[in-house]
Amino acid sequence: MTLKAAPARLSTTSASFDAEFKARLHWSADADAAIEKVVADILADVQKRGDDAVLEYTRRFDGLGAATVPELELTQADFKEAFDSLPQDQRDALQAAAQRVRSYHEAQKKASGESWSYRDTDGTLLGQKVTPLDRVGIYVPGGKAAYPSSLLMNAIPAHVAGVSEIIMVVPTPVKGSVATGGAGGQSSTKGERNVLVLAAAYVAGVTRAFTIGGAQAVAALAYGTATIPAVDKITGPGNAYVAAAKRRVFGTVGIDMIAGPSEILVLADGTTPPDWVAMDLFSQAEHDELAQSILLCPDAAYIDRVQAEIDRLLPTMPRAEIIAASLNGRGALIHTKSMEEACEISNRIAPEHLEVSSNEPNRWEPLLRHAGAIFLGAFTSESLGDYCAGPNHVLPTSGTARFSSPLGVYDFQKRSSLIEVSEAGAQVLGPIAVTLAEGEGLQAHAEAARMRLSKI
Ligand code: NAD
Repeated sequence: MTLKAAPARLSTTSASFDAEFKARLHWSADADAAIEKVVADILADVQKRGDDAVLEYTRRFDGLGAATVPELELTQADFKEAFDSLPQDQRDALQAAAQRVRSYHEAQKKASGESWSYRDTDGTLLGQKVTPLDRVGIYVPGGKAAYPSSLLMNAIPAHVAGVSEIIMVVPTPVKGSVATGGAGGQSSTKGERNVLVLAAAYVAGVTRAFTIGGAQAVAALAYGTATIPAVDKITGPGNAYVAAAKRRVFGTVGIDMIAGPSEILVLADGTTPPDWVAMDLFSQAEHDELAQSILLCPDAAYIDRVQAEIDRLLPTMPRAEIIAASLNGRGALIHTKSMEEACEISNRIAPEHLEVSSNEPNRWEPLLRHAGAIFLGAFTSESLGDYCAGPNHVLPTSGTARFSSPLGVYDFQKRSSLIEVSEAGAQVLGPIAVTLAEGEGLQAHAEAARMRLSKI
């Protein structure tokens, strides 16, 4: 049977559009009760037994045969060796990508990540002091695939922010171990280390790294063990176990976000070659069956041409089955009345990745309010942003771009307010504070302000 990818064809002129549109967008972020239970038990166990528990779960889920947690630590020499072992083109690509990501985040820090202050006319100084987090944990997924680009996108902004210790965790399951679906119980200390990931750790300046993963790695970073230091914040994507663990340790540590399945929305005016658009829809669909790819376009004939390119290109894709499942299950090709209406619908979706595939992208950009990242013009494929354009590829999903932002330098900083009231300033502020404190019945507050008044 030939594989077919047929995203839903919707039209905003149809009476059933709203219902069909809602049904396509629906995605439940509800936690799976079975996973929640497993994760809660692992977290409690690591909190109680530390290294012993981490070791036990790493053996069970990843099949590693290490006898102690220190054996699971990777060294700077491992990173360097991995980097040196890469072919020249991969070394160059890693360094070029890292350099662009660094430059972008340095500009971000300059624009919004510096301390500031001003003085009132009475000499009172007010401001904000920006400081980096001391120590962060970066989760680099490693269960089924390796993600060196994720490592760069997490570690580089942390580095630019001035974080002094970046602790990476990356599972390296032995092939055939429990977590990878096999029989388990194989004994190798190291598992399937990914050379590109270790080389990326070298390029990005990771301080320490451990070959552990899942909820046990999140727990170790949150609570600390004899070997693994507790961190202040954990960032980075992972599977359902990792997401559930991050949600649960929030409060003990900071977290970046809980990411849902990947999404792309292409706003097309019909001027981009349709095979480019079809491939861009594939580029998110190939992530997993739950990923979402949507095209919004006012030209019905162009939508037909994109569908024809989907049909033509799908058989050439190594991940055709995943692409077809994603497009059939959650994809949509939506015919709109106009580009203006397409922008409005895009704002309702608030997609993770938004491509404005048009020869006049700057005409539409001002109408777009909610998106993790906006890719302007036919030459800006989302995949360039994934790897090397410079901006961060860790983006809000599932409509959360309405209220949150891409991972950035600011995620690795915190802000303290600075207040230095002059003697003259205390005479101005004191009576206001006394009145409000007495209104709240907080006498010590009122007296503390009044004492500064009585000095004059
Ligand atoms: P992973 O590192 O997230 O998970 C592997 C770990 O899961 C194992 O070490 C094990 O401890 C744990 N685990 C597996 N089965 C378990 C079980 N039955 N019980 C308890 N623990 C178990 O790697 P993965 O599984 O390949 O998932 C990576 C995820 O990260 C994917 O969903 C991928 O889409 C996502 N991702 C997202 C982005 C992004 O930017 N949003 C980037 C890269 C990857």
